[in-house]
Amino acid sequence: MNSVTVRVPAKVNLQLAVGPLRDDGYHDLVNVFHAVSIFDEVTATAETGMRVRVEGDSAGQVPEDDDNLAIRAASALARHAGRSYGVSLLIRKSIPVAGGMAGGSADAAAALVACNELWGLGLPLADLLEIGADIGSDVPFALLGGTAVGTGRGERLTPLEVGGTFHWVFALAEGGLSTPAVYAECDRIREATGTDAAWPQTSEPLLDALRRGDAKALGAELANDLQPAAVMLRRSLARTLDAGREHGALGAIVSGSGPTCAFLADSETHAVELAAALRAEGVARDAVTAHGPVPGPAVGQRP
Ligand code: ATP
Repeated sequence: MNSVTVRVPAKVNLQLAVGPLRDDGYHDLVNVFHAVSIFDEVTATAETGMRVRVEGDSAGQVPEDDDNLAIRAASALARHAGRSYGVSLLIRKSIPVAGGMAGGSADAAAALVACNELWGLGLPLADLLEIGADIGSDVPFALLGGTAVGTGRGERLTPLEVGGTFHWVFALAEGGLSTPAVYAECDRIREATGTDAAWPQTSEPLLDALRRGDAKALGAELANDLQPAAVMLRRSLARTLDAGREHGALGAIVSGSGPTCAFLADSETHAVELAAALRAEGVARDAVTAHGPVPGPAVGQRP
């Protein structure tokens, strides 16, 4: 086999509960991940050496060297296999960069799946999950897809039962937000306001809404502890969130560390209308519709 293409979805966090800062600089999290139908595509082609090229609107914001998470994933897989494999990776990006939708982690997951296939390694998912966790806390979920709750740094995953499809609108922002900067701002706000971070707990009403496929109940339970920090660093997000609520979103939330905002609609038609309203109000660079949950990385052949 000469070339393998893997399509991989973005994620939104339905619940992101951030515990106290740990001694190792991380936070304990409860992270309910939900994969949605915005996809990057990674094509791995056999080659000597490792290289990566990125295509798409935001390609200029993604490194095309060893810092690229997809290259780091391919190198980690080769090391794990104990061989000096080579690969050329082509990433077609649609997931917003530094947008809080884990695009880099998605590309890393896609590269692991593609190279596992290209190099004929046949490693089980459990091995890829372990290699992925060393690359980034969001990579294991990107390998799973669907909907899952992550604990620890977000990497210990339990898949969740979901009783239906949810319709979303994502308001894309101009430029990204740095994930470490948003966590640091969250810590700063907590210190300045004397707020002790509670031990993160999974929201039972949210899990129940997911099980029942109840969009209205889910909308009311969406929660992101990083939201005040993201809004503090990007004040315009408050207006974007308000605009979505005014146009009937069942829930409005900053996605992960932002600046993408996620709105839950009550039908596919409502999602299309809501996206048009957000575009018309000029509160986002663009607004796109998507549905979830969707499965994780899918292998296909490109002609
Ligand atoms: P998360 O939601 O996991 O916090 P994010 O969606 O906010 O992540 P990413 O799009 O994953 O952010 O990118 C964060 C940074 O990682 C970018 O600024 C970019 O420079 C770097 N990066 C490295 N590899 C990639 C990649 N393949 N795709 C996107 N960004 C990458």
